[in-house]
Amino acid sequence: MQFFAWDKAQHPVSARHALKQKNYLCPECALPVRVRSGPHRQPHFFHLERRSICRQNQKSQEHLQTQCYLMTLLPEGQCCMERPFPSVQRIADITWESERIVFEVQCSPLSLQEAEQRCADYRAAGFEIVWILHEKTFNRKRMSAAESWLRKNPCYFTNISKEGKGRIYDQYDIDRGAIRSFKGPPLEVNLSLPKRKLPLARSSLPKELQHRIFHWPLFFQGDLLDRWLNEPNTKESTLHLLQIEQRYQSPKKAKLSFLFSFRRKYSLLLKALLKKLAA
Ligand SMILES: [Zn+2]
Repeated sequence: MQFFAWDKAQHPVSARHALKQKNYLCPECALPVRVRSGPHRQPHFFHLERRSICRQNQKSQEHLQTQCYLMTLLPEGQCCMERPFPSVQRIADITWESERIVFEVQCSPLSLQEAEQRCADYRAAGFEIVWILHEKTFNRKRMSAAESWLRKNPCYFTNISKEGKGRIYDQYDIDRGAIRSFKGPPLEVNLSLPKRKLPLARSSLPKELQHRIFHWPLFFQGDLLDRWLNEPNTKESTLHLLQIEQRYQSPKKAKLSFLFSFRRKYSLLLKALLKKLAA
């Protein structure tokens, strides 16, 4: 499902202006698509060949709603939906042209290879990629290789429903290999306010935040790093976080019974700290 298709002359046509029962062409795979709409559905194109492996065909209603949400959030006139990148043969979900950012919404599982390739392709085209991972597939206890890798890049979560209700959020979590062993409360992020001036690395910061300082090219207002940098009691909170992280990452040092009580106690403390930040 997608919002744009081509007419016979290869001009883009929006689903809002397309005629029912008429064939158009998918800009990604060039196969025929038609428009469909309903009282509870945004008008969109669907592939006539249902088993098509085209990425546009695999987009769900939640995916389209997240794209629409981003369009309403970002500055009018500066963003494009389903913008083709012919040099890398891709169609970006949303681009913010003046900021050179691509927002990629991901609702279905993907391979590590595909995630890496998509990042490399958009970077080659001069755009930074920000991933929006949907709870339908991501942010579970067990993480795929692709999700573990994506979390090391600018990446947030969403729970936007088929009806378009929900939000985009950041989260502090502690991972041990493929297992997410701790999950903080959701922190609402404002994607219309990017920040590029990353602070100098501070060795006293928890691993997750240090990682972002070194490896994220940008962050956004309201995300974990932004809240941490603007929180007056950062030092105290950081010390607690560091202790908790160490405990989570070397649980074998503690005896099992002790471990459970320790982890529960620190889970509560960490949640309280993060809630304070979220306020
Ligand atoms: Zn297609």
